[in-house]
Amino acid sequence: MEDIKKEEILEAIWSSIEKGDAIINNIQKIAQINVDLEAFNILEKEGIIKIDNNKIEFTEIGREKARIIIRRHRLAERLMVDILDMNLDSIEAGACEYEHILAPGITESICTLLGHPKICPHGNPIPEGKCCQEARKEVENVLTPLDKVETGKKVKIAYFSTQRHPILHKLISFGLVPGTKITVHQKSPSFIIQFENSQLAVEKEVASRIFVWK
Ligand SMILES: [Zn+2]
Ligand SMILES: [Zn+2]
Ligand SMILES: [Zn+2]
Repeated sequence: MEDIKKEEILEAIWSSIEKGDAIINNIQKIAQINVDLEAFNILEKEGIIKIDNNKIEFTEIGREKARIIIRRHRLAERLMVDILDMNLDSIEAGACEYEHILAPGITESICTLLGHPKICPHGNPIPEGKCCQEARKEVENVLTPLDKVETGKKVKIAYFSTQRHPILHKLISFGLVPGTKITVHQKSPSFIIQFENSQLAVEKEVASRIFVWK
């Protein structure tokens, strides 16, 4: 079987497992190419998948192969939407072409360029690469969530780790923005932060989403 065909099938299997319906019929429907039953049998013989009635499962080797393909595909999507400013509707065919030509070294560079994104433009998770793990370690060395900061220590806000706008709006409306210097006044019974001349009680959950420079 051609590599490109194999990669497309693995990709379709991965997506159908994500949706929780890895049935041969469904996989054939989402695949970008025509997949006959023979193709599944070949993959099973090669030790890439297991077939149980109509249900498909990856072997450990198969899952790792598919993970790499999915990562390339979804990074290619991010590249096209974020950097090349392409429209989401027009990229599907393009993403599948890119993923087959992105070499592993380039994948890491693109992931780094894009800031190690966690989800593709469709909202599906992008499997992590080595570059993402290293970047996370680096961040952990210099940044920490506010709830882990000792009381009385003055720290500077780096960023807010939340997409929930009400929380963001609340913090910003109090003048808390990246760069603001704050101190944890007390942690219990309520979590109170002090900045400039004011004090603000925040939920612990909110404090854990405020990242500060160590
Ligand atoms: Zn693809
Ligand atoms: Zn996507
Ligand atoms: Zn990365």
